[in-house]
Amino acid sequence: MTEPVAADTVTGGCLCGAVRFCITLPTLFCAHCHCSMCRRPHGAAFVTWTAVPPERFEIVAGQAALQTFNSSELGRRQFCRHCGTQLFCWHEHADGHGPKVMDVTLASLHAPLDRSPEMHVFFDSRAAWTKVHDDLPKLGGDNGLEPLV
Ligand SMILES: [Zn+2]
Ligand SMILES: [Zn+2]
Repeated sequence: MTEPVAADTVTGGCLCGAVRFCITLPTLFCAHCHCSMCRRPHGAAFVTWTAVPPERFEIVAGQAALQTFNSSELGRRQFCRHCGTQLFCWHEHADGHGPKVMDVTLASLHAPLDRSPEMHVFFDSRAAWTKVHDDLPKLGGDNGLEPLV
């Protein structure tokens, strides 16, 4: 049985369909990330993320298919163990009191969001062969979010 989906929710899933999830709008941001920890597992020039607080994120199906990789002390990346689709990145509080923001790959969502990509982050970490010709802010530095000159 399929439950009706409210208008302020967006569903998503992996390539094989094992993992399905739902986020509730509004999202927190939408950004292209050029850091190497995004580029490598996705096999991509950069990765476009949106984010919601954990309470606005729900796994609908396939929790057991999710594989977790701790890419840093504070980041847990999750992907489908069957098809390899990179889906989520949980960011933990530094004090260990649970995740505060849940990054979700824009490409895994099934419907338009409440916003378009707004910026490039970790832009100074981008692959040498990446050429960007849009007018979005290009941020970088130690935290990936500082204006670049
Ligand atoms: Zn899958
Ligand atoms: Zn990144």
